[in-house]
Amino acid sequence: MKNSEPEKKVLAGLPLPELIELLAPLPAFRAKQIFKWISRGALAFGEMTDLDKNLREDLDSRFSVRSSSVGAQLEDPGHNGKAGDGTVKLQISLYGGTKIEAVLLSDAEERKTACISTQAGCPAGCVFCKTGSLGFSRNLNSAEIVEQFLHLKALAAAANTDISNIVIMGMGEPLLNLSELRRALAFLCDAEGLGISRRRITVSTCGVIEGIRDLADKGPHIRLACSLTSARQELRNRLMPIGKANPLPLLKKALAAYRQKSGQRITLEAVLLGGINTTPADAEAMIDFARGLDAVINLIPWNPVEGMGFEGEPLREPSRAEVETFTAMLEKGGLKVTRRYRKGRGVAGACGQLGVLPENPGQGRLKHPDAKAEDSPENVYPL
Ligand code: SAH
Ligand code: SF4
Repeated sequence: MKNSEPEKKVLAGLPLPELIELLAPLPAFRAKQIFKWISRGALAFGEMTDLDKNLREDLDSRFSVRSSSVGAQLEDPGHNGKAGDGTVKLQISLYGGTKIEAVLLSDAEERKTACISTQAGCPAGCVFCKTGSLGFSRNLNSAEIVEQFLHLKALAAAANTDISNIVIMGMGEPLLNLSELRRALAFLCDAEGLGISRRRITVSTCGVIEGIRDLADKGPHIRLACSLTSARQELRNRLMPIGKANPLPLLKKALAAYRQKSGQRITLEAVLLGGINTTPADAEAMIDFARGLDAVINLIPWNPVEGMGFEGEPLREPSRAEVETFTAMLEKGGLKVTRRYRKGRGVAGACGQLGVLPENPGQGRLKHPDAKAEDSPENVYPL
């Protein structure tokens, strides 16, 4: 038995058909009851009060409900006398000691979004991403993916709220772990349990063509976001080494196929790196790539990660002027552009910052280069 696998089989994250098969000859309706309990957040078989005691004990001797536990919880502490932005980051310990992170984000309407990881570390190695700099430890299994959601849901419930959206944008590249991601999605979307709509789930990929094609052909047709960051092949290869094996013309075809087969509008994400990918030529290439895809462009000003550089120069946040000019160029080219809100920086839980817990949460919040002294972090960028 590998040390990443618990001795007892874990039932969280098992899609219902697999659970029914595993528990046979127990009748399917009993398996459904158990599935519902797990989906509702039960932590132990003892809580499953509509099963008789003998069955609960038998299940307990053979299976575990969960495989992971919450190690630490970090809340955005606020800054300059302002309240925090509501972001909570959980550090979760997996079986075998691996640690991952999952984030609960709140928007202006207090809607909660769960940001979930699919790998410990990431093999893609994008030069601007903290997770990428950690290297790759291992794929998460379906239980470990689903349990992040269940931990975050319990957190939201404790504050009398619920999670309305899921973004698979935490640590790792989801389409390099597609089979476990698929099982996790089957669990999350099953109407017998959580019944989350596929339209409320977004999977973000760095552009793994094979995975996009596979999802287009076999589903599930969740919302898809593709991290483009540069539509100039040569620059993209340097920023995102995985781009070499996934060339832009083929990536565009795969995205067009997904758009067509899923009927869902695609998002193209671009991390804006100060002085690197915000020139008129970059905008033109992006306009050209997006042509015919009917996509929304989501710009993400780079979130600082200490010590990260690109070809010998430290990376820097784009200036406010750079972000605005780049946005205007894309809009002029006919693209629909949104800007990612930068929640979670106070706990290093924003895009690309997942990987380690800050020793001093809240102290690491860096100011925008153009920010004036009186600017609060919330309005450093107009959102
Ligand atoms: N591996 C997937 C999903 C996780 S990364 C992917 O790459 O799409 C989620 C998003 O964060 C991606 O769009 C990625 O480009 C972006 N990102 C990575 N590092 C970042 C950073 N330091 N600042 C802002 N965004 C970053
Ligand atoms: Fe991996 Fe996404 Fe980070 Fe790239 S941006 S290293 S694909 S997690």
